[in-house]
Amino acid sequence: MSKSISSSSGNKFAPLGWVDSELSELAQHGLRRSLRIRGGAQGATIRLDGRELINFGSNDYLGLAADGRLVAAARRALDSEGWGSGASPLICGRSEAHARLEEGIAEFEGCPAALLFPSGFAANAGTVAALVGREDVVFSDASNHASLIDGCRLARAEIQVYRHGDCDHLRTLLKQSSSARRRLIVTDTLFSMDGDLAPLPQLVALSDEFGCMLMVDEAHATGVFGKNGRGVAEHFGVDAQIDIKVGTLSKALGGAGGFVCGSRALVDWLQNRARPYVYSTAQPPAVAAAALAALHIVESEPQRRAELLQRAESLRSQLATQGWPLGTSTSQIIPIYVNDAHRVMQLSTRLAEQGFYVPGIRPPTVPAGQSLLRLSLCHGHHDVILARFLQAMHGLREGPFVSQKAGTP
Ligand SMILES: *Cc1c(COP(=O)(O)O)cnc(C)c1O
Repeated sequence: MSKSISSSSGNKFAPLGWVDSELSELAQHGLRRSLRIRGGAQGATIRLDGRELINFGSNDYLGLAADGRLVAAARRALDSEGWGSGASPLICGRSEAHARLEEGIAEFEGCPAALLFPSGFAANAGTVAALVGREDVVFSDASNHASLIDGCRLARAEIQVYRHGDCDHLRTLLKQSSSARRRLIVTDTLFSMDGDLAPLPQLVALSDEFGCMLMVDEAHATGVFGKNGRGVAEHFGVDAQIDIKVGTLSKALGGAGGFVCGSRALVDWLQNRARPYVYSTAQPPAVAAAALAALHIVESEPQRRAELLQRAESLRSQLATQGWPLGTSTSQIIPIYVNDAHRVMQLSTRLAEQGFYVPGIRPPTVPAGQSLLRLSLCHGHHDVILARFLQAMHGLREGPFVSQKAGTP
């Protein structure tokens, strides 16, 4: 068998020859990505390719990914429900652990109902595509996450992109769209690269005024923002006015999976029409059990999010004092705008040499010329660690890494 593969391989892959040239093109522009291997658990420090580094790269904001209580909950579920789910939820994949988690999420969010998806990506893409179609218009913030963008494309609705956070622009577009059958405004609440918040009170007002649906993605905010950790909508006091809310179990909640919450009818509709829900296998029950344990920690340990946001504020102000351009972040996601893709990777390498993992973010994740270091602060980053990091950043401030046009893009 191996003989037939090797003898034909020269020709077999010839039609993919273009891939090699595209990859070298990416490399020439400093845009080729490569994988690392993490050894051991996710945490404030990690082993990457065998090196121990302070970890500013994960979205494990509350430090729950390796928490023993999540591990124990998963283990108990493994003993009672086994490992795999074996089918999509509608067939026979939905276990007691999934049902309990959906109830727990609905209660946590103060919503009538919630629905689990295999990932946050699937929740976003599947939900947008289930809510609008060819006769409809979606209004999408220019900085929205890829999963929302793909949802808009899958929906085949008309897509109107409004300038990031710009409600005046959105209003202008809304006024021009009165002939649409349905209209949907969709936005991240805490933007994953810029670390800033969507103007949710204004978006709620606009959705009321124009009779549109409003869908928000709290992926980076669930567990971190709001008095009860429900996210940015709670932070702004507009939680009850959001029609469709998406969250993920994979960031602050330390696990995997996504969810949508809202009315009972919304959840019923998605169970029938959201394709990634209908046609994808349910996550393993142990994953759901761990997520429920994480929700309980978010409820019972509010100091985790309070401390995280306090430290983030202090770190932002000290980095700004050193002169780094941080843009409009008001969260635990702290972008340092370097703008040039090559430079951002050099800076990331220099930080790694000093023991800090801070990923460089390049196109297509951000627009060309807006590359940045993405510092993601987690609960385990204590003051001593942050003081060392600030010292390292101070040393690099004099280097060739500062954008000529220091300032946000
Ligand atoms: C990470 C992310 C998602 C996807 O969530 P996963 O659970 O990782 O698939 C969705 N939206 C935003 C804004 C994200 O950053």
